[in-house]
Amino acid sequence: MIEDSRLFFKKLLQTPSPTGFEEKIQAAVREYMTPFADEIHSDVHGNLIVGKNIDAPYRVMLAGHCDQIGLLVNYIDNEGFLYVLQLGGWDAQHLIGQRVIIWAEKGAISGVIGKKPIHLLTEDERKKTAKIQDLWVDIGAKNKEEAEKLVEIGSPITVELEYRELQNETITAPGTDDKTGAWVVMEALRRTDRSMLKCAVYAVSTVQEEVGLRGAKTSAFGIDPQIGIAVDVTFATDCPTIEKKQNGDIIVGGGPVISRGPNMNTKLVNALVKTAKDNEIPIQICAEGRITGTDANMIQVNRSGVATALVSIPNRYMHSPVEIISLKDIDATANLLARFLEKFDPNESFIPSV
Ligand SMILES: [Zn+2]
Repeated sequence: MIEDSRLFFKKLLQTPSPTGFEEKIQAAVREYMTPFADEIHSDVHGNLIVGKNIDAPYRVMLAGHCDQIGLLVNYIDNEGFLYVLQLGGWDAQHLIGQRVIIWAEKGAISGVIGKKPIHLLTEDERKKTAKIQDLWVDIGAKNKEEAEKLVEIGSPITVELEYRELQNETITAPGTDDKTGAWVVMEALRRTDRSMLKCAVYAVSTVQEEVGLRGAKTSAFGIDPQIGIAVDVTFATDCPTIEKKQNGDIIVGGGPVISRGPNMNTKLVNALVKTAKDNEIPIQICAEGRITGTDANMIQVNRSGVATALVSIPNRYMHSPVEIISLKDIDATANLLARFLEKFDPNESFIPSV
């Protein structure tokens, strides 16, 4: 991976994007992508749409959601402790003991999610698992009045953002779901050789995926693509306690995961698999028996229907502060999509029966 795209990835992971509050990350994407785009615009929902070769009548949309799961300040008690709502799906056990940042209007405020010390827990309390409504954020405020000067009801919160390299070109960070996807779609557009393109390409950093795939819905309507490819993370099954018989065989570092199932257009899936073979890009295949909980869901049923595919990055510990992905996988996925776009022939039909 070239150095500037690696730095761009790192920057995305260090930029907060709690669902519904994606302005900072969209600004970072816009800044990086400006030299490589024919057109960049934001819609009123907050999606960032980057176009290349936009005069071509055939439109391919690539979607990666930039929002990350977070929390919202819901209530401040008299002692100055903050109670929260969740933005997206958390396992409350992951949040206990975390350092968090409250992205308040007046600036970032640090806090922690504390818990009663083990010494003081009763037998019964030791057996219980926490719920989100039981958690509180401690910012060190003396009382409610002081806390209210620093944060507002409705201020978004993320766990502390960090980016750490692990072995074998893997990294750990919160929010790899799905800043990896946002990065991949932008990189794919950047890496595509313009002189080979016969279609317009729109890479979209979509918003609010974690609360109902909402940015994909509005941006797909606006772009009106004939083809849509969503890039998200998927469950790696190569760590303890995950049952492969139920979840398939997906490994971190094994390459992009191409899904088959009713949420996908079979011809498009086959074209992506062929692109991978022709370019010797390792891929993994995964079965999705239901409509996926990804942007591919909304894109497929946009207007009168879109030929849709889902390409995923294997992810360990999804929706936790310590998600793991492989840099090799994201790099290969960007290349796969770039090679697909360069070879794409708009005369090809994706209507299943034709
Ligand atoms: Zn997610």
